[in-house]
Amino acid sequence: MLTRFAPSPTGLLHLGHAYAAVYAYDMAEENGGRFYLRFEDIDTTRIRSEFYLAIEQDLAWLGVQWDGTPIRQTDRLPIYQEALEELRSLGVIYPCFCTRREIQKEIEVMGNAPHGPEGAHYPGTCRALTSSEREDRINAGDTHCWRLDTRLAAKQTGSLVFEDEFEGQVVVDAHLLGDVVLARKDITTSYHLAVVIDDAFQKITDVTRGADLLASTHVHRTLQKLLALPAPHYHHHRLILDTHGKRLAKRNDALTIRSLRELGKSPTEVIDMLA
Ligand code: GLU
Repeated sequence: MLTRFAPSPTGLLHLGHAYAAVYAYDMAEENGGRFYLRFEDIDTTRIRSEFYLAIEQDLAWLGVQWDGTPIRQTDRLPIYQEALEELRSLGVIYPCFCTRREIQKEIEVMGNAPHGPEGAHYPGTCRALTSSEREDRINAGDTHCWRLDTRLAAKQTGSLVFEDEFEGQVVVDAHLLGDVVLARKDITTSYHLAVVIDDAFQKITDVTRGADLLASTHVHRTLQKLLALPAPHYHHHRLILDTHGKRLAKRNDALTIRSLRELGKSPTEVIDMLA
């Protein structure tokens, strides 16, 4: 059993992260497996260099020990680029030149734009461009991201399922999040593409993460099929909520592992809080 914890170094770990880390670590430990640490650091405007070490220190303090050297997604950009090229040769992605504002406007004009669990879907404006229009705009240096054409993708994959520890067998709805971005304008990847490539690269057998990412797994399973990658078993565990019933976010400073430690809590007390 190979599991992983994949934080973004955009802030200190809070109790929600600790729950995810301990969950993955314990599972590997109990099954004689391995537990890896991966920094999902492609959001280069939000990451801060000091958080890599701070995260490692907080995990070590909690007694969570990872195997091998942690990987960083920013070291792996050419690998994501290759996968993107593969998807391009399958004809299942398209360049999108829309700005955020244009997308917003188009959604307003449509009135009843399709929505998913993460809000309005991309309205599909650039899906309608011809291949020569696409080429011309790329050659003209127009900035663009790359989106999954969920209709063409679903046609290629046929019906799919994934297995989740809590939800059982889930039938994939490739359209759930619409035509998601697979490579952002500024970088050759996005969360969805990188996580799929890295889970396969690290041979993760069990992906453990918060229930808020369940919808994303529909996209991930689709990408795995297109790229001929294995499907791990999933554990979308419950989220830790604050006293208002909201999921913890980076703004819940009081619940960072660092501040609990500074308040004099022991690692065992923090682990007990998670339980
Ligand atoms: N990087 C994501 C986070 O910080 C985790 C994504 C995942 O585990 O797949 O929440």
